[in-house]
Amino acid sequence: MSEQYDVLVIGAGPAGYVAAIRAAQLGMKTACIDDFIGKDGKPALGGTCLNVGCIPSKALLDSSKQFHNLTHGFESHGISAKDAKIDVGAMVGRKDKIVKQFTGGITSLFKANKVTAISGFATLKANRVVSVKDAEGKSTDYSATNVIIATGSQPIELPFARFDGKHIVDNAGALDFSETPKRLGVIGAGVIGLELGSVWKRLGAEVTILEALPDFLAAADADIAKVAAREFKKQGLDIRLGAKLGKAEVGKKGITLTYTDSKGEQTLEVDKLLVAVGRRAATKDLLADGSGVKLDDRGRVEVDAHNWTGVEGVWAVGDCVRGPMLAHKGSEEGIAVAELIAGKAGHVNLDTVPWVIYTEPELAWVGQTEAQVKEAGIPYKTGSFPFAAIGRAVAMNETAGHVKVIAHAETDRILGVHMVGPVVSELIAEAVVTMEFKGSAEDLARIVHAHPTLSEAVHEAALAVDKRAIHKAN
Ligand code: FAD
Repeated sequence: MSEQYDVLVIGAGPAGYVAAIRAAQLGMKTACIDDFIGKDGKPALGGTCLNVGCIPSKALLDSSKQFHNLTHGFESHGISAKDAKIDVGAMVGRKDKIVKQFTGGITSLFKANKVTAISGFATLKANRVVSVKDAEGKSTDYSATNVIIATGSQPIELPFARFDGKHIVDNAGALDFSETPKRLGVIGAGVIGLELGSVWKRLGAEVTILEALPDFLAAADADIAKVAAREFKKQGLDIRLGAKLGKAEVGKKGITLTYTDSKGEQTLEVDKLLVAVGRRAATKDLLADGSGVKLDDRGRVEVDAHNWTGVEGVWAVGDCVRGPMLAHKGSEEGIAVAELIAGKAGHVNLDTVPWVIYTEPELAWVGQTEAQVKEAGIPYKTGSFPFAAIGRAVAMNETAGHVKVIAHAETDRILGVHMVGPVVSELIAEAVVTMEFKGSAEDLARIVHAHPTLSEAVHEAALAVDKRAIHKAN
């Protein structure tokens, strides 16, 4: 007889570990299976996010920002530092310590909530039997009343630029360079390419980003993408649009990239290459014949609006299903599914999932872009407010960017909020709350915002929707 659980979660990333904790909180006998092995060769909970994604990238972004400020940003404050140096080994060591603190934190949370952690690769068979192969190759079967698939995603590899872990790397490799590469090539100007490109640029690398699409940050509102492109250019990030990589050849002196753009075939020499062209659902070898679970044409687990796969007691959450590949989206789905299993109400509104890019300036948005609203034929009005007119931003010397609010022209309901500027990763929460409560621009405009804070830009942008911003001409 295989060991029986109320809930078996496959994957201990932010979708899976959160689902497991919530299921255990609700009184269900829960286990969470994960195959990730950390840098120390031991199983590490937390998935991509904690090990090689959100947390380590933010640690390096912060270290590199401190260094960049010290070498380039502090003169106007009257602060100068001679011969500032960066010890890349120490910086990466600090990042590893943070990762360990957080992955170890999940182990403690599992113990506190009585979630059993099982290490190994899981395959779902018929009737909610999960077979787990451990590091020694031994397989054990477990059964459950409910299975939650949360296997996440993996970087997409290009057939003509295969990861070798040394010259051509994925996100994990680019978080672990032992020294700053002289010339770093990045394929893909998406979130990961921009964040990790920024890290190494700030530490002195020559960074060239090749993006196949003709538009920069096509998913973002065009106004904030434009400001970001301008600021990144000022920082020396060389972003080449409409540039399609054809070949990456590793030689003695580096990597020769051959790509085509509107002018024809081009070449570029780099020392390291980060390929960040997107991620695909990690569903290879996950489903045995008879599991009944279906994959879509992109290899994602098919689910309905409530993350149910259509097979009795089998659910799927996080990066391995439709919707944005973001940690917080997966975590909320994990909670919702655990609550649905327990007979409670659980739901995630994918229309109000916030997006953040942690570059300098940061970008953050929620809801529809102006182009989407226009295309849908919705009557709308917009209000924008620049950080250059916000006292706190000027005091911080971080004035680039603005907040833009899009509201329905007749009902005033907020349809989208788009920000580029200092710490907008934190400011976006207010917009999410307002949209989740179906709030209007008028609601935001009538809320008292502390002075002097960056949040005044949100307040003024909401006022500007009705052409009554105070600190700029309307
Ligand atoms: P994952 O975190 O991928 O976890 C899945 C886990 O399941 C892994 O441990 C995997 O090894 C394991 N697994 C897979 N298959 C099996 C199997 N068959 N058996 C057992 N175990 C299995 N998102 C944000 O919201 N904010 C950010 O700032 C951000 N920054 C990022 C930076 C980088 C560099 C990267 C790469 C990603 C970033 N992301 C960010 C995305 C975020 O990491 C993912 O959206 C999130 O980790 C998805 O969570 P998940 O639980 O669905 O999957």
